[in-house]
Amino acid sequence: MKSHKPDVVIVGGGIGGLAAALQLARHGIQNVTVLERAEEFGEVGAGLQLAPNASRVLDELGLLDSVARTAFCPSRLVLRDAIGGDEITALRTDDHFTARYGYPYLVAHRVDLHRALLDACTESENITLVAGVTVTHIKQNSTGVQVRCADGTAYDGGVAIGADGINSAVRQQLIGDGVPKGAGYVAYRGTVPVDEVIESTGARELTDMVIWIGPSMHLVQYPVRGGQLCNQVAVFRSDNYGGDAHEWGTPAELEARFEMAAAPVRRSVTLIDTSRRWEMFDREPTAGWVDGRIALLGDAAHPMFQYLAQGACQALEDAQILGRSVGDPQGIEHGLKQYEEQRFARASTVQTRARMFGEVLHTGGSMAAMRDYMLRRRSELDYEPVDWLYLANP
Ligand SMILES: Cc1cc2nc3c(=O)[nH]c(=O)nc-3n(C[C@H](O)[C@H](O)[C@H](O)COP(=O)(O)OP(=O)(O)OC[C@H]3O[C@@H](n4cnc5c(N)ncnc54)[C@H](O)[C@@H]3O)c2cc1C
Repeated sequence: MKSHKPDVVIVGGGIGGLAAALQLARHGIQNVTVLERAEEFGEVGAGLQLAPNASRVLDELGLLDSVARTAFCPSRLVLRDAIGGDEITALRTDDHFTARYGYPYLVAHRVDLHRALLDACTESENITLVAGVTVTHIKQNSTGVQVRCADGTAYDGGVAIGADGINSAVRQQLIGDGVPKGAGYVAYRGTVPVDEVIESTGARELTDMVIWIGPSMHLVQYPVRGGQLCNQVAVFRSDNYGGDAHEWGTPAELEARFEMAAAPVRRSVTLIDTSRRWEMFDREPTAGWVDGRIALLGDAAHPMFQYLAQGACQALEDAQILGRSVGDPQGIEHGLKQYEEQRFARASTVQTRARMFGEVLHTGGSMAAMRDYMLRRRSELDYEPVDWLYLANP
């Protein structure tokens, strides 16, 4: 007889992989192994926006309070004109917002979120964490999987989950669609003491999540760590992308792209650490996340631009639905198919709209003037445009 509670091997210990491990353990899987390529489980990067659809899943995992303790709840999500400096539109994320969606909009340090997930995994007697192993291939038959690693080790289970991020090896095995699509955009990001940003912007305080938008560029700013630090992400399109230039998206280009920006933006950009750059990638929505006993999750399944701040939120949603699918009375393979069926349309919509929203943010000239004219007429309490994303059952 088929077991409905197979052992599970997860490839990748990022936010998606750890959240999946916790959800699976919650749903009665007694043996979950998470394999991570890095020598230690951890996160790189700076801040992370956690919309109510993510807060909802964290609450289910019993982690919302601990994440909220070090996070920050912004008063508003604001779009400002990066060139002229003035406010274009805003959405209030105070009590009205929380009442509508049942959960807060949080902005957190990604290290803090990852740490909360990791601590919960460590405390679970059903989860084993293995660092320093790179998965190369997964074999499967009708009863189970064998996950093989570069060092010659192998891990047996009933199911394997590829949560191995944007350059997923498991995806290449399942879908085989090569390297993700670059857009010629790069990001520089990091945190700095909030007072430094307040000084450079001339604002009285920083309690909003602000995106300064301009042609082919934007700057995101929001407080994290209870308001002590400010996360900044400067994003721009490089004119050297795809050309003959030896390097593209360099710090010198960053400076040049933001030269036309208003003084508060220009000054803030100089505070960002430029020692590492992130290239922006996404893919077209592509079905085929599940093959028999192997499934993809998070960026491995649906890599998206960060413009809607939803990549990690969607990985958390995946984990929730995956957890529910493993007890499928018709067997695990049916359960995994149901998981993809329930998640594909939603994640694809977010993937597609994130790309569209990027185009709206980065437009210039008369299109930007039209955008701003329409957005300036909105009320700060007009939540309808985001209901599809944040409501539990839109
Ligand atoms: C600039 C920027 C800002 C963003 N802001 C937001 C935001 O505000 N809100 C939001 O929700 N999302 C945001 N995102 C997106 C978010 O960071 C990602 O969607 C999310 O981290 C994906 O999580 P994941 O677990 O699927 O993948 P990852 O975080 O990439 O984790 C994959 C893990 O798998 C490991 N791994 C890879 N290959 C192997 C292998 N072969 N064997 C073993 N282990 C392997 C990796 O080391 C890694 O630890 C942003 C992204 C960027 C670039």
